Amino acid sequence: MISSTLGSKMKPRSASFLNILEKSIKFSTSARAWAPTVSQPPESLLKPLTVPHKLLMGAGPSNCSPRVLAAGKVPMLGHRQPETIEIMDEVQKGLRYLFQTHNEWTFAISATGNGAMEATVVNLLEPGETALVCANGMWGHRFAGMVEQNDCVAKIIVRPFGEVFNIEEIEKGLREHKPSIVFVVYGESSAGTVQPLEGIGELCHRYNALLVVDAVAILGGAPLFTDDWDIDVIYGATQKCMSAPPSLSPITFSQRARDKIASRKKPIRSYYFNAPAIADHWGCDGRSRGFHHTEMVTNVYMLRESLAIFAEEGLEKVWKSHRDCAQLLHQGLEHLGLEFLKVRNPCVTTVIVPDGVSRKDVSDYAMRHYRIDIPGGVPDMVDKVWRIGIMGYNSKAENIKLTLKAFSEALSSVQKKSTV
Ligand SMILES: *Cc1c(COP(=O)(O)O)cnc(C)c1O
Repeated sequence: MISSTLGSKMKPRSASFLNILEKSIKFSTSARAWAPTVSQPPESLLKPLTVPHKLLMGAGPSNCSPRVLAAGKVPMLGHRQPETIEIMDEVQKGLRYLFQTHNEWTFAISATGNGAMEATVVNLLEPGETALVCANGMWGHRFAGMVEQNDCVAKIIVRPFGEVFNIEEIEKGLREHKPSIVFVVYGESSAGTVQPLEGIGELCHRYNALLVVDAVAILGGAPLFTDDWDIDVIYGATQKCMSAPPSLSPITFSQRARDKIASRKKPIRSYYFNAPAIADHWGCDGRSRGFHHTEMVTNVYMLRESLAIFAEEGLEKVWKSHRDCAQLLHQGLEHLGLEFLKVRNPCVTTVIVPDGVSRKDVSDYAMRHYRIDIPGGVPDMVDKVWRIGIMGYNSKAENIKLTLKAFSEALSSVQKKSTV
């Protein structure tokens, strides 16, 4: 009898309720007789997980700091427990330091960089509004696609691969198209350029537009001053220069950006990427911390450790280590007689594949002999360039030296092969 399993202190339920419960239990027990047979578990999952160590010298993800990975093993807590809330507050403070901003709305979105990109579009733009998109690699085009998907207009100004924009051409675009927002990529990871940002924010504001910056591939690896550079929305991602696994995207909104969102006539077309709701979830403005989604608690711990490393080392030192490594790499590449793009991004260097050399053979050699990942270009450039990343935990002279050694050996091995 079911009633006998109820604690003696509990009030007995009505007989009819228990009857129904008992019947439904009987039904589900007898239903098993007709249940389909369970298929076999996949053999591959009965073997232990094996992942080799590789040195990831591409444009992200990069290797994680062991300290960050260790934070992934600490106990799980609910996202509303006081200890988690304290950690989330520490993360917000750390992100304000990393972005060099006082913006209250500074938090991490539970998504990779593409998610932060999409969040920017859905929050800032209303259907029919225009975005001026500066495209000097694939990311501008990606952003423009998201703008159009949201029934907005993307006016794209294009610079060839490896070049950056100047103030005059952005001003011309502002005058011609009267956009609500201007999008630029700070560290172009498909082309390996770094866009100077000083002056662009102030220019945009003169034309009543907001400045949006994609800093996914450079956040943490090069000088960045969100407030001083008048940036309205800027986002990054944990797996590039932050020594953490892919999962979260730091983002920050200026007061101007918040005012634009607050004055929307139409509601934001996304539940998951609704910035005011996420700001509330993070307790910005001392708000309610309403339930928006289950926070990626473990990844927040890891992000906390990533930010702790920045805090302990100091941003200037971390930026310098990326710059020094880039210099070492560039000297080495010159020594090998390799050509690379001149507008140099300290975090991603694009090396031109010389005539008669197979891009893939060199990459394969580095992987086979040194377990170093040196990938090619983005899809339409895949065999024309190698992209070498100097990101976060990997920005160490020993990694650069090893990469150059692998490169040098691979080149001579590949060239020997082709002259045989
Ligand atoms: C990697 C990257 C992205 C996309 O980020 P995901 O984390 O892969 O979604 C966006 N912009 C730039 C410049 C990037 O390098």
